[in-house]
This record gives sequence, C-alpha cells and structure tokens, in this order.
Amino acid sequence: MSADSVQVAILGAGIAGLGAAHRARQIGFQDVVLFEARASAGGLLDNFTIDGFRFDRAVHLSFASEPEVRQIFDLTPYLTHPADANCHEDGRWLKHPVQNNLYPLPAEEKVALIKSFLARPARLDGDNYEQWLRHQYGDGIADRYPIRYTRKYWATSARELSTTWIGNRMRRAELDEILYGAFTSETPNHYYTKEMRYPKRGGFKAFIQPLIDASDIRFDHRVERIDTVRRLLTFANGRRVSYDVLVSTLPLPLLTTMCADVPEAVRECSGTLRATSLDLISVGFNKPLVKDLWFYIYDEDLLASRAYSPSVKSPDNAPTGCSSLQFEVYSRGTDPRHASEDLVVNTRLALRRMGIASDDDILFIDHRRLPYGNVIFDRGMEARRDEVLAWCETVGIRSCGRFGRWDYLWSNQSFLSGYRALDDLT
Ligand SMILES: Cc1cc2nc3c(=O)[nH]c(=O)nc-3n(C[C@H](O)[C@H](O)[C@H](O)COP(=O)(O)OP(=O)(O)OC[C@H]3O[C@@H](n4cnc5c(N)ncnc54)[C@H](O)[C@@H]3O)c2cc1C
Repeated sequence: MSADSVQVAILGAGIAGLGAAHRARQIGFQDVVLFEARASAGGLLDNFTIDGFRFDRAVHLSFASEPEVRQIFDLTPYLTHPADANCHEDGRWLKHPVQNNLYPLPAEEKVALIKSFLARPARLDGDNYEQWLRHQYGDGIADRYPIRYTRKYWATSARELSTTWIGNRMRRAELDEILYGAFTSETPNHYYTKEMRYPKRGGFKAFIQPLIDASDIRFDHRVERIDTVRRLLTFANGRRVSYDVLVSTLPLPLLTTMCADVPEAVRECSGTLRATSLDLISVGFNKPLVKDLWFYIYDEDLLASRAYSPSVKSPDNAPTGCSSLQFEVYSRGTDPRHASEDLVVNTRLALRRMGIASDDDILFIDHRRLPYGNVIFDRGMEARRDEVLAWCETVGIRSCGRFGRWDYLWSNQSFLSGYRALDDLT
C-alpha cells in the first residue's frame, strides 16, 4: 500500500494532541491530522455510558487558570464545586487533609499523634518521600496516613519515591493547624484550589469538544512503527503515512519500542520508566445516595485508594433519582494487581463498610482498566526521562502530554504541553 502524506502528524487525540493541533492551525498549517488508536477522542478525558449513567475515565475536575485553556474550557457552560474532600479510615470519616482534621479520633490517639508530630526530626535527612513525610508530620501521622496511602495510590513504597512531584499537592504541617483540627471539626479548607469546575452536560470531555470538532482525526489508527529517517508512520490497520512534522503524545516507554534507531542507552533509560495503571470500578445506584464529590480511602483491605461521584459532579451524569460512584484502584506497571471479580467483591465491601450503600441499592458494577495512570517518581527518574526526551528531539519527535513528557500533568498542563510543542515553528 502506498503512503499518504500529511504536513503535521499528531499521535494521540487526547487533550495534548488536540492542543498541538489547535496551535498548528493557529500558526497556519493547513494539513494537520491526528491519529488516534481508539474509536473516539479525548484520551483520559473521554467517558463511557452504562444504562444512562455517564462515567469519566477517572475523577477529572478542572481548576485551570491559564488564559489559553480558559478560552476553550469556558465556551462550555459549567458548574462549580467547593474543593471539600473527606477521608475514610476504619469506619470513621475525617476531613481532608487528615493531619489537620484529627477531631473524630479518640483523645488518646490524638495525643499520641500530636506528641509524635512534636518529636519529628528537625532536619530533613535524605531525599526520599518517606523521610520527607516523617520530617513533615512525625512518625505517628506519617505511618498511619500518607505512608500507608502511598502503598495504595502509588503502588510503591514511600522510600522509593523522590519528592520532586510534591509541589502544592501536600499541605505542609503547622502546629496551629494540627491542634485546631484536633479540637474542632470547624476547620478551614486548605486544598490547593478553592473551586473545581465541571461541564453542566456531557461529562468532562465537553470542555474539549470545541477542539475535537475543529480537528481532523483519523480513528482506529494505532501507530505501530515510526521511521524517523524516512519520516514514515505505519499503523496497525496497514496504512502508512509520511509526515513533515511529528508530534507524539504516546507514553515514552511505548514510543521507544516503535522506533528502530533508538540508541541502547536511551532504550535502557526508557525501559526503567514506570507508571501506575488504573482499575476503574463504576457503580450505579437506584437512589440519590451519594453526597461527597470525592473521598480518599485509607483502609488497606479496601483496594480503592479514592472514589468520586459522577452524579455529584453533574446531575447530567445519572438518570433522575439515581446516583453514581467510581472507585480507583492502582497497580504498578501495566499488569493488574487484582482480578476483576475480586475488585467487584471488594467494592461491595467498601460500600457497606463506609455506610454508603447496601447490595439492594446497586444497579450495576462495571470494571475496566486504563494502562497508564500516574507517572511514578522513583528516585532519579527525571534524569533517565530527560535522556529519552533529548533523543526524541534529535530525531524530530515532539513529545508532549502527560505521558509524552512523563510528568504529573493536569489536563490544563497537558493541553499547554501540546500547545507549546510547535513554538519554534511560529
Ligand atoms: C486518575 C487520574 C485523575 C486525574 N484527574 C484530573 C483532574 O481532576 N483534573 C485535571 O485537570 N487532570 C486530571 N488528570 C490528568 C489528565 O487526565 C491528563 O493530564 C490528560 O488527560 C492527559 O492528556 P494527554 O493527551 O497527554 O494523554 P491521553 O489522554 O492519555 O491521550 C493520549 C492518546 O493517545 C492515544 N494512543 C495511545 N497509544 C496510541 C498509539 N499507539 N497510536 C495512536 N494513538 C495512541 C490514546 O488512546 C489517547 O487517546 C487525571 C489523570 C488521572 C490518571
């Protein structure tokens, strides 16, 4: 089969690919084509429906502030939610972040945790996340909450992780805040964003629908080989396409397996990059049972690390009088840690233990997997990733997006990463 040719080829029609296509059109390219493996666009921002219930592919709320992103997202009417989250531990609910909301705990446990906080190491000794947690919160709080949670959410021990990804994601500990939260439940919200936005209709994907509508997307085009010398793409459906400019949003470890000319050192670095994969367990209820937008689950025998409610995000996500939840269970690498039947059984247990629903309230439980969830920031990862990215540049692959940059990017940041991938061509 002879090859077609395009000016700008973009691999992946998630928000990063769509951002790159938007920018390419702005710059003046006429022939911009996205090639997407799946039958629909949006990547992680896509959704699916079951019996009138819509579920995003994991939690997804927007706190974008960048004008380039807001110009697009704000075209879609949206709801706003306060960023209030709860945490579940052994039948008890605590407000997030737990260290500032110890109020529901028995007095002796609070005393022990606060004493341990006061005795925490004065200096940060070392560069791993476990040491950072012990230095911030003291052993008592660190062991009971974030170190335990790390095993569930990152599917990795805190000792293996670096601290480079933390940014404003973790609230630093202050004695006043901890004491205040131990005496009263009336604590202020210190979440890193005050307000979360979500489309009134159509799921999170509605925010990027204007980009999808404006783009030329070839669906069911899973790229299998990239010849960076001949600038030629080969797809699983047998088609071949040559390109002038190539943007890729594919996960770096996958990308390097598709190219023939990868130096051994780069291939080795790429082979060490790890991410979590994600089991999504989506539940439809026959009653309006759910009030929380999202919550964290600390119990280790409950497999999910957090859950959120699509029907609280927007009533448009569930039939009238019904409600929904989606649980997230993480595994290290692309292989699942748990069998599908176990995830379903454990979800029923979680719903009962947390006092949310009984079996009679459940209309269905759906399980599906996402192969890439969060990039794992094991120590030294950035240097290995940067070596792969540097190689991409030398062969003309503009790698962008959450898995193309191999970074902890929110949707707005992934958009900008794609949007800026063509900056040198302006
Ligand atoms: C659990 C979770 C919760 C999140 N919550 C939020 C949140 O609340 N708010 C927020 O702003 N962000 C959130 N994010 C981040 C957000 O989802 C990402 O930043 C963003 O969606 C990544 O977009 P992307 O285009 O880089 O990648 P993707 O969305 O992964 O897009 C990549 C595309 O490439 C396609 N593809 C893969 N392989 C091939 C191939 N061989 N050939 C062709 N196409 C291929 C895929 O099908 C996909 O469509 C969350 C992410 C996760 C995992």
